[in-house]
Amino acid sequence: MSHAPSPAPAVTAHTLPSYLQADNLGPWGIYLQQVDRVTPYLGHLSRWVETLKRPKRALIVDVPIELDNGTVAHFEGYRVQHNTSRGPGKGGVRFHQDVTLSEVMALSAWMSVKNAAVNVPYGGAKGGIRVDPKKLSMGELERMTRRYTSEIGIIIGPTKDIPAPDVNTNEQVMAWMMDTYSMNSGSTATGVVTGKPVDLGGSLGRREATGRGVFTVGVEAANHIGLEIKGARIAVQGFGNVGGIAGKLFAEAGARVVAVQDHGGTIVREAGLDVPALLAHVRETGSVAGFPGAEKVADDTFWGVPCDILIPAALEGQITAANAGRIQARMVIEGANGPTTPEADDILHERNVLVLPDVIANAGGVTVSYFEWVQDFSSFFWSEDEINARLVRIMKEAFGAVWNVAQDNKVSLRTATFIVACKRILHAREMRGLYP
Ligand code: NAD
Repeated sequence: MSHAPSPAPAVTAHTLPSYLQADNLGPWGIYLQQVDRVTPYLGHLSRWVETLKRPKRALIVDVPIELDNGTVAHFEGYRVQHNTSRGPGKGGVRFHQDVTLSEVMALSAWMSVKNAAVNVPYGGAKGGIRVDPKKLSMGELERMTRRYTSEIGIIIGPTKDIPAPDVNTNEQVMAWMMDTYSMNSGSTATGVVTGKPVDLGGSLGRREATGRGVFTVGVEAANHIGLEIKGARIAVQGFGNVGGIAGKLFAEAGARVVAVQDHGGTIVREAGLDVPALLAHVRETGSVAGFPGAEKVADDTFWGVPCDILIPAALEGQITAANAGRIQARMVIEGANGPTTPEADDILHERNVLVLPDVIANAGGVTVSYFEWVQDFSSFFWSEDEINARLVRIMKEAFGAVWNVAQDNKVSLRTATFIVACKRILHAREMRGLYP
């Protein structure tokens, strides 16, 4: 009998473990559908596509803290590293009462795609704690953040996985995370998180970066479809870090922000809202509600407001089959992660509404996070002009490449972004090979 070596086994699709299967259209189910859509375009790299359907590593941690009233509360925390083929994991940390493992898995996977789409040398990761942080005192929030950081400390690090802010986390939370990791590791490790305060190794321009990226790709796409920004009517959902800055930049470019919705309500003003005054109002009161001179309307009417550009910049799953048919805009720029369901995506496509997908449109934040990390490693800090110029160059180049792939393959910009990004990830996967 011959003992010739058996042929190398092909990488075949196996049944996904139960916790990875999508039994509903949650964010992970949406992501799996997006991978299926792109698979026919991956050529020989489709042999590795199964890699994209499983996170490399998913950690669930218990986060016990003592509350101010002396009782002990337990929170559930997660850190998921979806893929590290192209570099360390990178992605934000979300504090929200609805966070689930499935949601964090999807967000981590979208980070892999986003980081590859703008070609920064990172894989994708994401974290979260299932908590309503508004119900915690400052001291409780700090204790929870520090215990969570310590628990996930076994898998994060400046060359392993670098968290950043996301919904309900900010510079202060990043400062606590950096300090906790540094205390545990015995040296100040600024590069373990990005989105830090500028005095602690943060980068100039980071706070505005996602909104600036949304604006940059929006202007590029508008040029392609002959939409004039000066005078264009903009509707923004979510007026926080992303929506507020994007709205401000569009207004400065001569557009009219005609409708804004946040968790407190929806306001409209056909002649255009005074964006700097609205930002000040949000800073003072916490919401756009009650802004003088604007008309308050029912939340559901937001989706049918006459406008040219719609910017969802709040949470996922906002544009659905129920409202996509009413959207008046010529272009939707996804500032938020996962704001459009696949059915809504199809409806918008049929109605000729151009959708600039999250995985390219909101990549400005992680791009400047990358600059922050590079600056931390070199301990040499750049000027804000330099940062903004590099950001704009990367966003324009990435968007141009995606636009061409969409035209060549006659696919949506979302599928085109997945084609560009998944090829990069799987090419790295293939070159590295399987260990052992
Ligand atoms: P943020 O907390 O600064 O702002 C969130 C905004 O959404 C607030 O205005 C809030 O009122 C509004 N909102 C919350 N619930 C709402 C609801 N039910 N209806 C309408 N509005 C609601 O958060 P952010 O950093 O601006 O993030 C917004 C989105 O952008 C998220 O999906 C996040 O993952 C994504 N994102 C953020 C960054 C970043 O750098 N901050 C980068 C990439 C993607």
